[in-house]
Amino acid sequence: MSEEDYVSEDAFDAVVVGAGCAGSIAAYVLAKAGKSVLVVERGNFAGAKNMTGGRVYTHSLRKIFPDFEGNAPLERKITHERISLMSTDANFTVDFTGQDLGKEGQESYSVLHAQFNPWLAEQAENEGAEFVYGIRVDDLIVRNGRVCGIKAGEDEIEARVTILADGVNSLLAQKIGFAQEASLGQMAVGAKELIELPEKVIQDRFQCAAGEGAAWLFVGGPTQGHVGGGFLYTNKDSISIGLVATLSDLITSEMPVYEMLDEFKKHPAIAPVIEGGKTIEYSGHLISEGGYNMLPKMVGDGVLLAGDAAMLCMNLGYQVRGIDLAIASGEMAAESAIEALDKGDTSEAALSVYRTKMENSFVLKDLKQFQKFPHWMESTKRMFTDYPDMVRDIMYSMFVVDGTPVEPVRKKAMRPVKELGLWSLFKEVKGGVMSL
Ligand SMILES: Cc1cc2nc3c(=O)[nH]c(=O)nc-3n(C[C@H](O)[C@H](O)[C@H](O)COP(=O)(O)OP(=O)(O)OC[C@H]3O[C@@H](n4cnc5c(N)ncnc54)[C@H](O)[C@@H]3O)c2cc1C
Repeated sequence: MSEEDYVSEDAFDAVVVGAGCAGSIAAYVLAKAGKSVLVVERGNFAGAKNMTGGRVYTHSLRKIFPDFEGNAPLERKITHERISLMSTDANFTVDFTGQDLGKEGQESYSVLHAQFNPWLAEQAENEGAEFVYGIRVDDLIVRNGRVCGIKAGEDEIEARVTILADGVNSLLAQKIGFAQEASLGQMAVGAKELIELPEKVIQDRFQCAAGEGAAWLFVGGPTQGHVGGGFLYTNKDSISIGLVATLSDLITSEMPVYEMLDEFKKHPAIAPVIEGGKTIEYSGHLISEGGYNMLPKMVGDGVLLAGDAAMLCMNLGYQVRGIDLAIASGEMAAESAIEALDKGDTSEAALSVYRTKMENSFVLKDLKQFQKFPHWMESTKRMFTDYPDMVRDIMYSMFVVDGTPVEPVRKKAMRPVKELGLWSLFKEVKGGVMSL
């Protein structure tokens, strides 16, 4: 059967569900190639319904928009990296600044979705893609096992290719049997506040030059010892602060996520850097954490999945990445659709070039590289409780001088390590190193 046996002549070449990074990039690439594209977004504007921590590694954006730095709404170039092991009353931080962090091709920026996503959508619109907002796609048109477009309320819109870029936990991907409902260990919930502060105050508090900023990730304290972590990114005149907690462990917590965030903000290491700030936004969202092992089927007859809908996200504790993967997968989904459309064959066989492109790119290579990490993190709960406390005790043993006769540092520092069990500590650290 040919394509035209499934869809009418006036069908769109492509319908994209979701105007996040993946959807808008897919629409941009398709429209630029002269294809007719409709993007359907349930929010009232691009960026209205989605959330991110706030840092984009821009290599995949640069590939599509080489001059993005002069045009995109970027907040600060990240030149300071901080990682902390936080216990309830102390904080141990590794602070790194290096020229290469800002080098072309490996730079990253803090961004705000409410500005960044509309900019991406605008680029696609400028190329001729059509966007409709405030409409939720309820279902897909499926004829003889082939996806032929979308259903929204009473409306049916046909397309030769449908790209699902509807974000994490895609109900549409589940409806066509491509994705399973994720387990609690594979999903986390994120909560974030945007705190307004004067530009200069942020620069002084984070010791950053104008236009530059810091990314700060935390283990332990923010989630009150539960599996997950905290994050803080500096924007131009605001700070994005939040935490991510894995659902399987969160259900054992007596403290809800919003209270954890309140406590995090009161921590002695955090309170001074947000002092005087005003919360101007609060958001919560799911985030997929299962990595490579929870990838859904990404290609079918007439349909492709991109971005979070394809579970392309990774949280390594020292890096959270989803946006660069969403952008690259949106681009590859569009390129694959274009090749298939040009051949007049948008069957699964023709579209499966997408999977090959993804496998040959950093997207699936990186996810595969870190595929053991989610399991290690979930099974090493002491990472979030005992380890931050151990490091705190070692630091006290080095820095406290109280007039009692001194013991050799090696003896004092080894005591908290021995309390945790040298052998089990070695095994757990080795497991972590191997999974990275
Ligand atoms: C707390 C948190 C912190 C994060 N931190 C970072 C970070 O610092 N750096 C990073 O790179 N990544 C981070 N991520 C991940 C990153 O935000 C995502 O991977 C990325 O935004 C995914 O983009 P997307 O376009 O695939 O999906 P989304 O941005 O979720 O877009 C999906 C869109 O589809 C729309 N939609 C959904 N269903 C429908 C429907 N039925 N009909 C119509 N429209 C629909 C939604 O409204 C939404 O606009 C974080 C995520 C969270 C939750």
